[in-house]
Amino acid sequence: MRTRDALYINGQWRRPVARVPVSVLNPFDGSILGQFVPGGLDELNEAVDAASEALHAWQKLPVSARTDGLRRMAAYLEARLDEIADLLVDEVGMPIRWARPIQAEFPIENLRRHADLAESFSYVERTGVSEVRRVPVGVVAAITPWNYPLHQIVLKVAPALAAGCTVVLKPSEVTPLSAYLMADAAHAAGLPPGVFNLVVGVGMDVGSALVEHPLVNKVSFTGSTATGSAIAKVAAAKFKRLTLELGGKSPSIILPGADLKRAVRTTVARCMINSGQTCTALTRMLVPRKCHDQLAAYAAEMALAMPLGNPRLSTTRLGPLTTRQQRDKVLAYVVTGDREGARRFGDPRDLPNGLPDAGNFVAPVVFSEVTAKMSIAQEEIFGPVLCVLPYEDEHEALQIAESTQYGLAAAVWGASDAAAREFALHLRAGQVDINGGVFNASAPFGGFKSSGLGREAGIYGLAGFLEYQALQFQA
Ligand code: NAD
Repeated sequence: MRTRDALYINGQWRRPVARVPVSVLNPFDGSILGQFVPGGLDELNEAVDAASEALHAWQKLPVSARTDGLRRMAAYLEARLDEIADLLVDEVGMPIRWARPIQAEFPIENLRRHADLAESFSYVERTGVSEVRRVPVGVVAAITPWNYPLHQIVLKVAPALAAGCTVVLKPSEVTPLSAYLMADAAHAAGLPPGVFNLVVGVGMDVGSALVEHPLVNKVSFTGSTATGSAIAKVAAAKFKRLTLELGGKSPSIILPGADLKRAVRTTVARCMINSGQTCTALTRMLVPRKCHDQLAAYAAEMALAMPLGNPRLSTTRLGPLTTRQQRDKVLAYVVTGDREGARRFGDPRDLPNGLPDAGNFVAPVVFSEVTAKMSIAQEEIFGPVLCVLPYEDEHEALQIAESTQYGLAAAVWGASDAAAREFALHLRAGQVDINGGVFNASAPFGGFKSSGLGREAGIYGLAGFLEYQALQFQA
C-alpha cells in the first residue's frame, strides 16, 4: 500500500495538522491502493504564501535556469517510468497498453517539450516607441481532475514554471497518489522552495479556498463544466486570470463518400479510450440516415468486441471506470437512454466471468436512433457509451453537431480532406480531426462554448501564463 502523509510546501514535506488519512481505492477490485492525508486551510494558506514569496526570485532567473529544472524533473520521472505506469493503471483503471504511453510517457515528454518551447519563445518585441514584454502572470492555482491525472498536472505546471510563475497544485482527491510524484520530482530537481507546492484536499474545501485566495493571480482549472462555472464566478469577482478546460460531447460527423468503415472504427476507438472517461471522447456519431442501421450495427460489433477486464493485462482494451460513483452514473444514463427510446446494443452489466464484484466495470453500449433532444445526446456521460444519430443532409448534420452546450472536439470524415475541412470550418469546436487526423501535442487544446475558456498546450498554453507589459520610450 502506498501511503503519503505529508504535503509539499515551501520545499519541505509537511504533515497536515488534521492527520486523518483517506483511502484511495483500486477501481479494479475496490481494494485499498493507498492512503493520503489531506490538507486544510492552514496548509493551503502556507502554500500560497510560499508561492508568493518565491515568485520574485523565480521570475528573475533566466529562462534556461527554469527549464533546466523542468528537464531534471523529467529525468527523475523517467527513471521511475515503470512504477508510474503501474500506479496510473491502479489509480485510474486505464489498461496498461494505453496507460503507459498516455498517462506516464507522454507527461514526461511534455515536461521536456515545454522546456524547449519556453526557451525558443519570444518574450520581448517592439512596436513603435514601445517595448512589449511578456511577463509571468504570478501565483498560479492549478486544479486538476482524475481521468488523465499526471498529464493534466504537467499541462499546467510545466508552462507555468517555465513562464516564471510559481504554483500551488490541488490535484483530484480521487487520484492524488500520482500527483505526489510531481512533488517528488520538484524536490529531486532542486527547485527553489515555494516555487512548486502541493496541497491535496477536497475540492469544495481546499479547492475553493485556493481559488478565492487573494494572493492567487491565475486559476488554471480542468474538470467538470459545473465546477468550472462556479470557479469562474469567484475568479471574475476578483479579476483573476482564468483558464478553464471543461467537459465535452464531441461529435464524429461521417459525411457521404467517406471511408465509412474506417470512420466508424476510429470513432468507436476514440469514444471508448479510457472507458469513455476522456473529455474529447467522440461520443456522438452522426451518420447519413440511409446508412444509419448498417453503421450502427458495425459500431456495436466493434465496441462489444473490445476485450474488457483487468487493466494490467496487455490484451485488455476496456478497464473499470475510475470510481464507483462514475460507474453508477453511467449505468443510470443507460437506463435513461432506454427510457428515451433509443435502440440499445449491449448490456452494461453483461461482464465477463471472474471479474471482482467490487470492480467498477461497465460493458460498452451503443445507442442508435438517437435524436439530438435526448439527454444521452446532450449530456456528458463519461463512460463507454456511444450514441449514433442519423441526419438527412449536411445542413441537419451541422445543426445536430452544434446542438449541445459543448464545443471541445469533433471529427469530420469526408470523401476528401478538402470536403471534410470545408464542413469543419462551420463547427464551433476547439480541436477538429479531419479524416482521422492525429493528436498534436503542440496544437492549442481547449473548448468553445461551455467546454472552457482559453487554451492549453504548446506556445498557446505558455501564453496563458504570461501578461503583456508595454514600456513606452521617448519618440
Ligand atoms: P470536477 O469538476 O469534479 O473536479 C475537478 C477538480 O476540481 C478536482 O481537483 C476537485 O477536487 C476540484 N474541485 C471540485 N469542486 C471545486 C470547487 N468548488 N472549487 C475548486 N475546486 C474544486 O471534475 P472531475 O470529475 O474530477 O473530472 C471530470 C470532468 O473533467 C469531466 O467533465 C471532463 O470532461 C473534464 N475534463 C476536461 C478536460 C479538458 O481538457 N477540457 C480534460 C479532462 C477532464
